[in-house]
Formats: sequence, C-alpha cells, structure tokens
Amino acid sequence: MAATTFELDGSIMEGGGQILRVSAALSCIQGASIKINNVRAGRSTPGLRPQHLSGLELVRDLCAGQLEGGEVGSTEVTLTTGKIKGGDYTADTKTAGSVVLLMQVSLPCVLFADSPSVLCLKGGTNAEMAPQIDYTLTVFKPMVERFGVHFDCDLKMRGYYPKGGGEIIVKTNPVKQLTPVTLTERGTITKIYGRAFVAGVLPHKLAKDMSAAAVRYIRKEIKDLYINIQSVREKKDESFGNGNGIILVAESSTGCVFAASALGKKGVYADKVGCEAAEMLLRNTRHNGCVDEYMQDQMIIFMALANGTSRIRTGPLTLHTQTAIHIAEQLTKAKFTVTKAEDQDSNEDTHIIECQGIGMTNASL
Ligand code: ATP
Repeated sequence: MAATTFELDGSIMEGGGQILRVSAALSCIQGASIKINNVRAGRSTPGLRPQHLSGLELVRDLCAGQLEGGEVGSTEVTLTTGKIKGGDYTADTKTAGSVVLLMQVSLPCVLFADSPSVLCLKGGTNAEMAPQIDYTLTVFKPMVERFGVHFDCDLKMRGYYPKGGGEIIVKTNPVKQLTPVTLTERGTITKIYGRAFVAGVLPHKLAKDMSAAAVRYIRKEIKDLYINIQSVREKKDESFGNGNGIILVAESSTGCVFAASALGKKGVYADKVGCEAAEMLLRNTRHNGCVDEYMQDQMIIFMALANGTSRIRTGPLTLHTQTAIHIAEQLTKAKFTVTKAEDQDSNEDTHIIECQGIGMTNASL
C-alpha cells in the first residue's frame, strides 16, 4: 500500500480527462495514491467515459494497484499504486476512444518499470479531440526522444469513429532517468508535408480535395516552400470502418516539428476539412515557439520528471498546458515558471516554460 495519498479536484481549470491521465501517471511513477473528485466536471457528460476508465485500469494493471470508483460515469476515483512491472499489457477502449490517449497515460509509467513492456492498445487511432496516431509518430515521438524516451509503435490497424477497432503495439525499455530538454530556437520553417486519407467505402476524391484545399490555403501565406501532401486510400487490411482526415506537418531548421490535423465529418465538405487543418498549421508556425499547441501540454509530464532544468519556447499558452503544470506541481516537487518571451522576430505571443524537474530515478535499474 502506497504511503502518500494526493487528493485532487477534477473540475479545476481544463476540467477534463487530461487531469486523470497526468495525475494517474505521476502517482503511479512516484508510488503515491491518488483520489480524484468531480471527475470531468467541466464536460457535458461528466464522470469517466470508457476511454478514461480503460486508461486508469491500464495504469492499475501496470503497477498491480487498485482502482475504486472504476465504472463508466463515476465522478470519484481512487487509485492505489504499487511497483511498476514490465511485461505484456492490453487495454481496449471498446469504442473509438483514442489509443493515443491510452498511450499518453501509460508511456511515462512503463519508462519506470523494472523491465521492458509491450502495450497492446485498442480503440480509435484517428479520433477527434486527441492526437491522431500519425501525430504521435511524426511529432510526439521525435519531441519526447529529446528527453531520452524511446519507444517503438507498430500501427496494426487504423480505427475511426464510431466503430473504433484500431490497434497499436507500443514497445518500450525502462530508463534510469529522463534528460532535461532545451528548445528555445525555432529557426525557419524548411519543410511542409502531410497526408490526407480515406478509409472504407469513402471515395478517394475526398482525400484529394482535402489535400488540394490545404495546399491552396497554406500557399496564400507561405509562397516559397515545396508542399508535399499525399492523398491516400488506406489499405483494407490495415484499417477498420470508414474514416477520412488530414495531418499536416512542418519542420524547422532547428529540428522542431509541428503538426495540425482535422477529421472529416458527415455533411462537412472535404475542402473545409483541409482548410481547417491548414489554418491550424499556420497558427502554429506564425509564432516563434518550438512546439505546437498540442505538444505543449504533452511535454509537461516529461519536464517534471527530468533530471534538471528544461526550457521550452511556446506560442500562446493553452489551458491544457496550464492544467498539466498545475497537476505536476501538486503531485511532484517540480517547479515551473512561465515567462512572456521578448520576441523581435514575431508579433505573436510567445512564452518560455522553465521547469526544474525532480530527477525521477528508476530504482530497478
Ligand atoms: P475530455 O473528454 O474530458 O475532453 P479527453 O481525455 O478526451 O477528455 P483532453 O483532456 O481534452 O481530452 O485531452 C486531449 C489531449 O489530446 C491533450 O493532450 C491534447 O493536447 C491532445 N490533442 C487534442 N487534439 C489534438 C490534435 N488535433 N493533435 C494533437 N493532439 C491533440
């Protein structure tokens, strides 16, 4: 039985599922228990949804812990944690709930396991309000590798709303400690590429239209770069159900990677989906920050755990990031400071997030 129990109000700030993931992972890694009230009180359907429950159950299993209040709809949960053990684990949202968010909660934990881990994660791979799996492979992976986080991710099957049915296999080795990261020079944008896709019965034309609209939109602002957006039909044996969407990626001369994405919906023109993603990409490359608006909050847990001071230049601070910082400071001794950056190269709002990490050590190595 873990010694410390942290109590958290799940309705604070962003008030969503991210509070559960950041707090569950940090409590598991530190061997502390956690009790969360008012779970997802900020959402229209409060309480645990299937994907949040699967994530908490996965963390419970990784450390042979206990979960009280582990039911869909539950607004109060207690997670009692134990020692993190490597091995094979499976988690299934049984919906289109994101496999990437299952990975978001479990990856930091298995880095501090006593041996290698293999996570089989099932659900949606390209889901709304979550990173698309393509984002994870193209942006999240290289960004967290800077902290010394290495993983293999095998995309077995893509799955979309509403059926899910996707599957990824994530393999990791434990680490002794995480390295702090300095990312303060954005440089210039050197490359823009991407992928527009259709799966199932949807016509390939949708992918072509998304891609063409995205290129046209970006061209209005960025004239002198080659933009390569493939339009693909997913293979039948690699995708389950119908889906369409787009991911756009920009790389900078200093190795920063940014992405933007959008998914097709019934009744929404493909052109509009392409333009939505393009506007998101431009919004994230106009400022001089080194991470996009989504990677921002996903860096926080690694900064808190790293062995020393990390420093990251960002664009406008998101509420998700502020929430992740708040949770990390509640549950660890990490100290964050956020300062508005003086920026002569850009009129946009940029910030430096600095964090004195706790230097979490894997006692098993
Ligand atoms: P809730 O249903 O309560 O909103 P959730 O767990 O589904 O909970 P959030 O708490 O909002 O969702 O967390 C979503 C996570 O997914 C955040 O880390 C956010 O940065 C990330 N994310 C959302 N949309 C994108 C996107 N388009 N690209 C990359 N990452 C994304």
